[in-house]
Amino acid sequence: MIATESKVETVSFYINGAWEKPTGRTLQPVTNPATGAVLADVPYASEADVDRAVRTAHEAFLKWREVPVVDRVQVLYRYKTLLDKYSDDVARILTQENGKTIDDSRAEVRRMIQMVEVACGMPSLMMGDSLNDVAAGIDCKTIRQPIGVCVGITPFNFPAMVPMWMHPFAIACGNTFVLKPSEKVPLTPTRSVELLHDAGLPAGVLNLIHGGKEAVDALLRHPLVKAVSFVGSTPVAKYIYATAAAQGKRVQALGGAKNHLIVMPDADMPKTVEAIIGSAFGAAGERCLAGSVLVPVGDAAGPLLELLVKRTKSLTVGDGSQHGVEMGPLVTSDHCRKVEGYVDKGVAEGATPLVDGRDSKPGAGGFFLGPTIFDHVTSEMTIAREEIFGPVLSVMRVETLDDAINLVNRSPFGNATAIFTSSGKSAREYSSRCEVGMVGINVGVAAPMAFFPFAGWKNSFFGDLHAHGKDAVAFYTEQKVIMSRWF
Ligand code: NAD
Repeated sequence: MIATESKVETVSFYINGAWEKPTGRTLQPVTNPATGAVLADVPYASEADVDRAVRTAHEAFLKWREVPVVDRVQVLYRYKTLLDKYSDDVARILTQENGKTIDDSRAEVRRMIQMVEVACGMPSLMMGDSLNDVAAGIDCKTIRQPIGVCVGITPFNFPAMVPMWMHPFAIACGNTFVLKPSEKVPLTPTRSVELLHDAGLPAGVLNLIHGGKEAVDALLRHPLVKAVSFVGSTPVAKYIYATAAAQGKRVQALGGAKNHLIVMPDADMPKTVEAIIGSAFGAAGERCLAGSVLVPVGDAAGPLLELLVKRTKSLTVGDGSQHGVEMGPLVTSDHCRKVEGYVDKGVAEGATPLVDGRDSKPGAGGFFLGPTIFDHVTSEMTIAREEIFGPVLSVMRVETLDDAINLVNRSPFGNATAIFTSSGKSAREYSSRCEVGMVGINVGVAAPMAFFPFAGWKNSFFGDLHAHGKDAVAFYTEQKVIMSRWF
């Protein structure tokens, strides 16, 4: 299935339980960001492809919803076993097409498997409520029923995990699914779906197509699609939310981020520095939970920056598949140029580069940019306002915790944040007053586990029910209230 670097294959669609190699579609190369080599070509689904995938899913839904939930989850138990068995295979493909280090890919695959584990609990999670004698001789209960064909549109940065925020939950609830992953990284979702096929998922319950805006628009407008789950950048999330909601569909649209890391003077500096390095430069900053703005409070800046700059300069940047590499390349040459453009802009707008990633260029042909730290960044600067989605950390110094809270709450984004402190009072005050959905206390990447919701706020999320956890069960089901009286 996966092309070697000397023989480029076309990635397949998976419709009605069969793999198809479409011909005559627009093709886009999939590259290895560490070398620039082409791994495969991805075909872009047309409106007719989308229609076929959705109709297939709808036909399958009519049967799948009748399968008892205890039997539906048996497929997921088998899927989990296969994912465990082939986890290293999936991680290797992920590093090859996305660029993140192999350790990071393995961690993502573990998170991916946890989603399946939680969805296996659907017989308990889907239970309704009941109360007898709500009136004389009358009982009342709620049940949860599947809603129909659900769609997932996912980003490039977590191609193993993010689709799993969606389809295991949707399928376990009795829905069927059409997945349209990022066209930049189609090989990881393809391998994941191969394993789901091998686990014995009935034909049509999950369908995989590839492509860009044309495919997405056709999914958003298709009358048989009942719910849309999206994860990606804020402008596209807003568009998806507005377009799908206007078509009467249920939508959850997770967007971009600009995450602040607050460091109090009483923080444990060496441990804080390690957490900041992981948050800002892990996965080359291509995480929606990545720390992007560092906010030292009062006297914290001196000792913090001295250690942080030293550690950042020692980071090993290179091909993520190689042992010892701590930071890989950016996903595409376009994205690498875009992030480098932000570094140029930071310098032009007057920020002070403490570490300049443009000086670090390991490996010819790859899309590399080293880690960058800017000091004395001010609110008007572009690097303080926009999501960069690369290894660029902006330092904005403030005097007090109140100043830090005001700075964070002025941001239009509200995905994640963290505070580093040894004071329970500061931690409590910050976590209750910040207008951000996911808060780390001495934790640099506050990534909720599968049984909690992924709870972005403000321009980082459009909708009301979040991804995974109990919210996913509510999102992928419709409630029905049944009142009964027996004569
Ligand atoms: P993106 O918005 O460019 O693409 C996401 C998906 O939308 C892809 O499948 C893509 O094909 C599709 N798409 C792109 N442009 C479109 C358009 N104009 N119309 C319709 N569909 C379109 O995002 P990306 O670059 O793949 O991923 C990075 C972004 O995702 C970052 O902004 C990051 O913060 C965000 N993200 C958010 C979360 C979260 O949980 N909030 C998680 C991961 C990534």
